Amino acid sequence: MTNCIFCKIAARQIPSKTVYEDEDLIAFHDINPAAPVHLLIVPKQHIDTLADCDERHAALLGKMMLLAPKLAQDQGCGYTSNGDGAAGKGGFKTLFNTGPDGGQEVYHLHLHVIGGPRPWRGMR
Ligand code: 5GP
Ligand code: ZN
Repeated sequence: MTNCIFCKIAARQIPSKTVYEDEDLIAFHDINPAAPVHLLIVPKQHIDTLADCDERHAALLGKMMLLAPKLAQDQGCGYTSNGDGAAGKGGFKTLFNTGPDGGQEVYHLHLHVIGGPRPWRGMR
């Protein structure tokens, strides 16, 4: 997609603070972080929104979701479970914004991974 900022980041035409890359995904720090750690996990393939996904995207979406806790761990905001059904320590938020009412600003699918010590700026 010619005028898409995340396609340009994925193609390395625009710089980003990249933390992960493979054949399908790139992950980088959000330029305007809402918390001490704020990453975006982005498919290299251009898809406008989560609402444009179907069964054909299930593996890609699963891969994005499973990457989130790994990158959170790498960035020092992973979750440590008690393993007993009670809250453990640390943790992070995962978020897809979809459409104007969902607060989406960039129309290239991305998963926010937001964490680190609270309070966070403008987010609960
Ligand atoms: P949305 O509101 O679409 O879910 O989130 C888009 C996110 O992309 C925002 O948090 C915004 O700060 C981030 N963003 C927008 N442009 C750039 C950019 O050029 N580089 C990086 N690293 N993040 C960007
Ligand atoms: Zn794109």
